[in-house]
Amino acid sequence: MNNFTFRNPTKLIFGKGTIAQIAAEIPAEAKIMMTYGGGSIRRNGVYDQVKAALKDRTVVEFGGIEPNPQYETLVQAIGLAREQGVDFLLAVGGGSVIDGTKFIATALKYEGDPWDFMVDPSKATDAVPLATVLTLPATGSEMNNGAVVSRKEFNEKLAFHNPKGYPLFSVLDPEVCYSLPQRQIVNGIVDSFAHTLEQYLTFDTQSMVMDRWAEGLLLTLVELGPKLVERHDRYDEVANFMLTATMALNGFIAMGVPQDWATHMIGHELTALHGLDHGVTLAIVYPGMMKVMRREKFDKLVQYAERVWGVTGSPEQKAEAAIGKTDAFFRSLGVKTRLSEHGIGEQTVDFIVERFRKRGWNLGESGKVTPERVAEILHDRM
Ligand code: NAP
Ligand code: FE
Repeated sequence: MNNFTFRNPTKLIFGKGTIAQIAAEIPAEAKIMMTYGGGSIRRNGVYDQVKAALKDRTVVEFGGIEPNPQYETLVQAIGLAREQGVDFLLAVGGGSVIDGTKFIATALKYEGDPWDFMVDPSKATDAVPLATVLTLPATGSEMNNGAVVSRKEFNEKLAFHNPKGYPLFSVLDPEVCYSLPQRQIVNGIVDSFAHTLEQYLTFDTQSMVMDRWAEGLLLTLVELGPKLVERHDRYDEVANFMLTATMALNGFIAMGVPQDWATHMIGHELTALHGLDHGVTLAIVYPGMMKVMRREKFDKLVQYAERVWGVTGSPEQKAEAAIGKTDAFFRSLGVKTRLSEHGIGEQTVDFIVERFRKRGWNLGESGKVTPERVAEILHDRM
């Protein structure tokens, strides 16, 4: 097991009707900016619940943060927050609104062009306090300090972490998920499955106990997946899904283990270049990652095959089956897992590989996912 320090300061407030509790969690004198997306919260009643909870408070609003939040939009929010003297941010939405709000929170404490800390995340060191009301279980952003922001003019999608970027609290009321389009439920299942794999399907140092936690999350997603695709208005199923997605990326299962994240980095490029949903990009890339990194990840692939998929046979057969089972699981949820099914071809592969070469990116837990291997992975997924 690797050395580690674990501390997650986010207070989770979970369950039915919990949005009503937010006012008590926000300092009385705070000048709050409430951020949200394209309007789903106005249609499903979440906006009204938040406004009712904050009825005696000063609240500035900034709506219109789009999926895969854009730098250009967030810069407008930063301007408004500065103008209004905002000192507390409340993100109401999915990962995009929360990530965008982390960018705003960081920028408000940063002098200079905020894109600087996207290019060099070591510059993100401070943030205005923020909190969230989560409406989409997927990213774990409600309980971590990471964020992903896009910039159209450069066709870029980059991630950063800020040690001060953890939400102060996050409210998770599973009932707000009933209004989600099925596509977003599926994206959330794939994203949380991939987050778990990024911290589980690695080589070198391992943790017996975190393996079991990770397998618990994966098994829960395998069991819930088909049920949630059928319908997502059964409270206990949605509540279990919501908690699983949070646990998949709040630092907990990362204790003492290496982390991969190469699939996410490749996926971000597919979104930046083609606008694919984040979850879809992961479902495309992950089986290819497993195949190309099969030798390095062999022991873990076999363990994953046995414990998550109940596969029997020789170690080689198990590793092979694990890859097929993963692809089949994503497809069973209705995701198209091949680049060609999205009209994406060679040109994109060449572009991504060249970009990674220029950035000097060797990805994965041991830096073994070189640009050449990225090419292999993407070719495998044609
Ligand atoms: P999202 O982009 O936040 O939201 C997707 C869509 O779902 C939006 O159109 C949104 O509509 C709608 N929606 C959200 N909640 C809803 C509800 N309760 N009812 C109806 N519609 C609802 O999706 P996401 O998957 O949560 O976030 C994806 C982003 O997070 C990507 O940029 C990804 O790269 C990033 N990400 C971040 C992390 C992290 O750790 N920070 C990890 C993985 C991925 P409205 O806009 O109208 O609200
Ligand atoms: Fe993700």
